[in-house]
Amino acid sequence: MADTGRVYLVGAGPGDPELLTLKALRLIEAADVVVYDRLVSPQILALVPESVSRIDVGKRPGSHPVPQDSINEILLKLARSGQKVVRLKGGDPMIFGRGGEEAAMLAAHGISVETVPGITAAQGCAATLNLPLTHRNLSQSLIYLTGHTVENQIPDIDWKNLANKNNTLVIYMGAAKITQITDNLMANGLSSQTPALAICNGTLDRQAQVLGTVATLAADAREAEFDGPVLFILGRSVGLISEMNKMDLSHENSSSVVASN
Ligand code: SAH
Repeated sequence: MADTGRVYLVGAGPGDPELLTLKALRLIEAADVVVYDRLVSPQILALVPESVSRIDVGKRPGSHPVPQDSINEILLKLARSGQKVVRLKGGDPMIFGRGGEEAAMLAAHGISVETVPGITAAQGCAATLNLPLTHRNLSQSLIYLTGHTVENQIPDIDWKNLANKNNTLVIYMGAAKITQITDNLMANGLSSQTPALAICNGTLDRQAQVLGTVATLAADAREAEFDGPVLFILGRSVGLISEMNKMDLSHENSSSVVASN
């Protein structure tokens, strides 16, 4: 069997099932088993055929995530038993998704890996609001940033460089540290009036977002009481969305600005 011992590291996109690639769908339909994460939406799981086994490694009873070592063991065992394994991850598997760690681990054990890209949260979320992540007059650089490190700290990076007004900054996993992050950016010279957006459950029908400035972002997000994964997008091109969507995106109205999907 050609696929014996092979793991497909597949991106599920940000949630909307129509943002799944044709390749991802074909592999899901042909898999023996799908091992999936917390961020894979129920709408996408509904596309997994009844005949395909599913293993949820997103949480276990008590809702702690399954440790990475246990996920590795599961993947190895399944691949070695000759099953066609789809490791399905939210967004893109190689963007803040530990895809690299899993691919390296599998390769070290002689298992072949094939990566199938997915639409990352930044692109999916931005598209729902017609938000240009780059803009030739406003933003010539696009940076994806994690809001915290393994040690649960904000990343130790060059904040002065990040604070450049020509950047669009997209912050993943930033909800817990957004106050520190925006403070750092302003302390390093980013204008407090730079437009900034927080978006939750992007591309899903329960999407909600709030538009403010770098100065108000942390408070806006807190007041919005989001329930789900939150992405932050900061930069001058973010300011274009009010006009393009002809809507008020301030937090008082955040529940009424769900983009139609
Ligand atoms: N591999 C994923 C990212 C995983 S890290 C990707 O490429 O998108 C998890 C973070 O992604 C969340 O904390 C959040 O910041 C972001 N995220 C993922 N899906 C999202 C969604 N539908 N809406 C908003 N943020 C999302």
